[in-house]
Amino acid sequence: MPELPEVETVRRGLNRLVKGATVASIEVFWPKIINNDVESFEARLKGQTIEKIDRRGKYLLFRFTNGLTMVSHLRMEGKYNVVPRGEDQTKHTHVVFHLTDDRDLLYNDTRKFGRMTLVPTGEENTVGGLKKMGPEPVADQLTLAYLEDTFGKSKKMIKPLLLDQSKIAGIGNIYADETLWMSKIHPMRPANSLTENEISALRQNIIDEMAMAIKGHGTTVHSFSTAFGEAGQFQNHLHVYGREGEPCERCGTLIEKIKVAQRGTHFCPHEQQL
Ligand SMILES: [Zn+2]
Repeated sequence: MPELPEVETVRRGLNRLVKGATVASIEVFWPKIINNDVESFEARLKGQTIEKIDRRGKYLLFRFTNGLTMVSHLRMEGKYNVVPRGEDQTKHTHVVFHLTDDRDLLYNDTRKFGRMTLVPTGEENTVGGLKKMGPEPVADQLTLAYLEDTFGKSKKMIKPLLLDQSKIAGIGNIYADETLWMSKIHPMRPANSLTENEISALRQNIIDEMAMAIKGHGTTVHSFSTAFGEAGQFQNHLHVYGREGEPCERCGTLIEKIKVAQRGTHFCPHEQQL
């Protein structure tokens, strides 16, 4: 499942590669990926130019001329690829955007869970999870006042609250564990038990961690056809995620893995106490 930094890396790669490109025609091999009527989807995008690609949470927003936005969610395995025309299609290629400059924008998806929805620009907030999406994890949007209010009102455990996209956009399992460890907060603490100092620290760690993760993934964007951040350098910087049984970098206590709200959760039992 791509998390926000991966999707942001894809967005940057796409902007670099296909911003300004015009769609000559579209082939859809797996119609379920398109939430619209497929014929109308193809007809409305034909001849339109990609002005830019935006992002909201884990959703990519392709801004086309003619006031159209294609909302694309990669879900588990969706990937974009830009290739010379006719090359590199596989059995997992489900949508092909033929561009007028003799390239193809391929959408590959081994699980076929990804979805594309074409809407008038400005109506993207009517699509799927965008209807109710919390603020982006950046300083000017994820304010301390907002978090104090949101956490203060909730008896829910803090980890599932961090994963709730309607509260904060784009935090997944890895970054929830990492930022809670950095903030020395047990993942099962009730949100409304967090002190002002803890909320402030957690907020800053979320903002810094997401920015650093985006930077880390950006460094892997190097070539034409592998532009979309497969490996990423960021796994080298993880402190707790996937490190159960290894000593905590701060105190040496062995990192434990437990289940919290069905999700594998890593924490330092010495510094993150209930
Ligand atoms: Zn520790």
